[in-house]
Amino acid sequence: MRSRESAQSAHRALARMVERLRQQGIRDEKVLDAMMRVPRQQFVEDGLAFSAYDDTPLPIGYQQTISQPYVVARMLEILRAGRELGRTLEVGAGCGYQAAVLSFLATEVFAVERIRPLLDLAKENLRAFRFANVRLKYADGSLGLPEAAPFDTIIVAAAAREIPAALKAQLADGGRMMIPVGASNQQLILVERQGKVFKESRYEAVRFVPLLSGME
Ligand code: SAH
Repeated sequence: MRSRESAQSAHRALARMVERLRQQGIRDEKVLDAMMRVPRQQFVEDGLAFSAYDDTPLPIGYQQTISQPYVVARMLEILRAGRELGRTLEVGAGCGYQAAVLSFLATEVFAVERIRPLLDLAKENLRAFRFANVRLKYADGSLGLPEAAPFDTIIVAAAAREIPAALKAQLADGGRMMIPVGASNQQLILVERQGKVFKESRYEAVRFVPLLSGME
């Protein structure tokens, strides 16, 4: 009984989170639906469950954070622009939350993480969902994932000083990449590839952990 009540209250909290995303201006129903399907609570420590549906980043250990729901939704909405995401690379799998959301929007998801224990955490968190289209890799994502390229979509969950050349090179023709760029002042940048031309458009200011090179 007790656990059913807590499952119901978690469901209500998730529904409120999605309603808030709507009020904050997210219009893409497929993105809202995907976010409704992933209980964020399952990706944070038990001690943080009470704030799992707040619109804030939360710690996931190793000085990293699970991204703020609004920012996840906004990046996905811009990337989608009403179409499917196709073959997708996520740089910075963290606890696996965004990879779970992506699994409902992309045909295939390759999520890479440079901190081994976080990759293990993401695997553990995603196991229960049994997604057939999500693959996790231990790799330095600033180099992309050459063996699985090209990608229709690339989403970077950590802020780069400059857009890594390898990521641009691994975008398919017609592909799109969303990446936060900057140090203390960061901005979301959308990169759209048409043949040899890479068009960049700037979106809102954000705050992400830094994109680092190498693995640990
Ligand atoms: N998308 C994640 C958010 C993770 S925070 C989630 O839903 O939980 C950003 C993550 O990017 C961190 O886990 C960090 O270790 C990772 N990261 C930073 N630089 C990276 C790189 N070069 N390659 C792969 N992962 C990287």
